[in-house]
Amino acid sequence: MLSLKLFGANDIRLIETAIPKINDDELLLKTDVAAICGTDIRMWKNGYKGVDNNNPLTLGHEFSGTIVEVGKNVSFYKEGMQVAVQPNIGCGICDRCVAGNFHLCDDYRAFGINIDGAFAEYIRIPAEAVQRGNLAVLPKGVSPEEAALTEPVSCAYNGFSKCFVKPGEYALVVGAGPIGYSHAMLLHMAGASVLMNDLSRERLELCKKFMPFIETYHGNDLEGFVKEWTNGKGLDIAITACPVPEVQAAMLPLMDYGGRVNFFGGIPASLQPVALDTNIVHYRELYLTGSTRSSIAHSRKILEFVSQGLIDIKSMVTDRYEINDIITAFENAGQAKGIKHVITF
Ligand SMILES: [Zn+2]
Ligand SMILES: [Zn+2]
Repeated sequence: MLSLKLFGANDIRLIETAIPKINDDELLLKTDVAAICGTDIRMWKNGYKGVDNNNPLTLGHEFSGTIVEVGKNVSFYKEGMQVAVQPNIGCGICDRCVAGNFHLCDDYRAFGINIDGAFAEYIRIPAEAVQRGNLAVLPKGVSPEEAALTEPVSCAYNGFSKCFVKPGEYALVVGAGPIGYSHAMLLHMAGASVLMNDLSRERLELCKKFMPFIETYHGNDLEGFVKEWTNGKGLDIAITACPVPEVQAAMLPLMDYGGRVNFFGGIPASLQPVALDTNIVHYRELYLTGSTRSSIAHSRKILEFVSQGLIDIKSMVTDRYEINDIITAFENAGQAKGIKHVITF
């Protein structure tokens, strides 16, 4: 089968590998759709710990597939079932795992991060993932492509759920990539007015094209624009979906009293600490929140939203490729062309 392997920094290769063998407690999936994420691009550019010429890793953590082989000890799952896969596998024992937060486990493992992922024609699902609910059979009306996209949207949903969004609130999303796009869809679903901001006019225009309900701003006076857009009140919600310290700091003066800020995008450690005017948090009684990755429960919620027709997540897909063209797909995604790039098998 074909697999896209990471060998080190700036070294990905599409190579022929053996179809994985499974044991009695495992499943084999035929990959249906796998999407490229900013994390894949960072791992490609920077390399990743434990990955080298002798220990290459198949990338890809946003995916769906069809079960083609079932270990004899596996219950419930059957050949032919189409499933979405939540990539984060926890130890199952620690307090965070017991609370359902496998994505926060110290021993967290994930497909495409530290075990082989989905940019391959087949993928082995280890026993822990089979038994701990990482697979969800597609609900009615959910396509394999939408199932593959539930991972990034579920990460946005994790941040969204910390912002207590109410109808009629004013929400700003900075960053018009796939994650900003996901946030905008969820905020709109919850009844908020959504403003998006990004340095790239092209990406903002794409977002506006596929989500006509959003407002966009591109320019040097975000503060003035927000004032006018919110009738002088300021924002109820701000979400930073970009790795820029200045953007985090710039959110606080834009907030209305009781506003909620989610620092979604991480900041490179070399740029920490970020200087924030914490008096604004104090006097305006703001809530500063963070979020990272997503739980299985978050992912299943997104599958429900899609099944119910509440969000059109496939609208973010601007580019589709076959596995043979995956290097081109990585190059395009790396240059921030389009919004979401998916591989269809
Ligand atoms: Zn991702
Ligand atoms: Zn754990």
